[in-house]
Amino acid sequence: MISHIVRFAPSPTGDLHLGHLYSALYGWQSCGQKPEQFLLRIDDLDHTRCRAEFVQRHIDDLNWMGITWSKAPLYQSQRLHRYQAALSFLQDRELVYPCFLSRREVNEILSAPQETDPLRHALTEAEKQSRQETGTEPAWRLDMAKIAKLAPSLSWFDSQKGEQRVDITSLGAPIIARRDIGASYDLAVVLDDFDSGISLVTRGADLFSQTGLHRLLQHLLGLPTPLYDHHRLICDEDGKRLAKRDDARSVSYYRQAGYHRADIMALLGLS
Ligand code: GLU
Repeated sequence: MISHIVRFAPSPTGDLHLGHLYSALYGWQSCGQKPEQFLLRIDDLDHTRCRAEFVQRHIDDLNWMGITWSKAPLYQSQRLHRYQAALSFLQDRELVYPCFLSRREVNEILSAPQETDPLRHALTEAEKQSRQETGTEPAWRLDMAKIAKLAPSLSWFDSQKGEQRVDITSLGAPIIARRDIGASYDLAVVLDDFDSGISLVTRGADLFSQTGLHRLLQHLLGLPTPLYDHHRLICDEDGKRLAKRDDARSVSYYRQAGYHRADIMALLGLS
């Protein structure tokens, strides 16, 4: 059996819930439960919502479940320079363009009948300049019209669903650097997974639709593509995702209520 390097990459905006824990256990089992092949990454780009105390509780809960790792966790918030360098690389090659539009303007433009690449040409050069002069930071979007001409046909492999072709035309005009942080989830995960030597990305099926964009970014940045395995999401009896429900119970709740590790495994349908 191939021995994979995997990661669990929670966003610490709250406590670890059963849905997240399932994801961690899935990765843990995929690497043969070997601490040296399991990495913890803290996806804390969203600095307004992430909190250090949640990180510590995630770590305690994972360790309590028997999941351990031998390297220090990676924090996205400490890697902004890396994301900035990748953005500069794309800027130098004119594969991205600055977008000064507000969210409301973007929604208005996209709700109207579409021409090709409507956001790219929504403002005149003079309007862009005047926004820049009044201190508006741009977001950076991939220039898809240009990229569509350059990118060969791309594909990636999902362990459960097999080979997936990337349909460049379905990706919209993705923002890869937000105006507030100069990076985005998509740019960051592609760089982090590469820099950490991740060979198998295990994550929830809710991120399946993002993987085409990640594959494209790997191509543009000259990075190899790992294997992917998008696992099922854990839902309650009503089919709602446990990790998203406001009243979903956290792993700490179950610990305090006297549940054992085996009880949690049984709740998740694992044994
Ligand atoms: N931080 C993301 C989340 O909690 C997961 C990122 C990933 O696995 O690529 O949904």
